[in-house]
Amino acid sequence: MNLKRSLPALLPLVLATSFFAAGPAESGTPKQSPVNVTPGAIRFDPHAPKLDVTYGHSALELKYIRKDADKADGCTVRDHEETEEAEVEPGSGHVTVAGTRYDLVQFHFHTPSEHQFVGHSYPLEMHLVHRSAAGKLLVVGVPLRVGAHSVVDTVLAKLSPECGEPVDIAPVNLNSLLPANHHTLHYTGSLTTAPFTEGVEWYLTTEQTVSAATIARFQGLFTAGNARATQPLNGRTLNEVPRI
Ligand SMILES: [Zn+2]
Repeated sequence: MNLKRSLPALLPLVLATSFFAAGPAESGTPKQSPVNVTPGAIRFDPHAPKLDVTYGHSALELKYIRKDADKADGCTVRDHEETEEAEVEPGSGHVTVAGTRYDLVQFHFHTPSEHQFVGHSYPLEMHLVHRSAAGKLLVVGVPLRVGAHSVVDTVLAKLSPECGEPVDIAPVNLNSLLPANHHTLHYTGSLTTAPFTEGVEWYLTTEQTVSAATIARFQGLFTAGNARATQPLNGRTLNEVPRI
């Protein structure tokens, strides 16, 4: 399925569904992801709870996530919702916000970046997906630019084929996935793939670096991209929150 062709047709349906699904106490305004971050939407609330990150080491299993297994040509066609996803060992990382713990489950990649910054896309974006015991989702989004070699190069050194075996990766320090800068922007949005469920807590970090060769390798697999278009903020703001 081609991203640019299918999204405009799908989006009105998706947005209408979430509008009518909202209860009378809710605004009914879509709160979807990703978004384009603009300076005017950024706020600073000194009382906002901090993002407390506790990451350790974990071996990884890099898997190709298929969305077209029912199609005869699915092994060669790159569906725009497919990705390379690294599964972490249970208990190897978690974050805590305002007393709620979210365990790191997996992280995966999009090209180009799903979030934009004043209309600017990065070549890659990494999403670290965390889940609370109650099933609430928190995603840390890391924009990746061409630069120094990082642990992301190690993770994406050998990509998992769409119809083949996962790639086993020796333990990495999960902390080194995150940039040195502890500034994040928090907003509430949605999954960026179907069923686009809302109520996802997003924390966008500053940029991390990765080599040009790794970016080219990932883009070589997803030649048409695997990113959702940006969605309207609809009055939402992004709060500056430190990561500790
Ligand atoms: Zn994602």
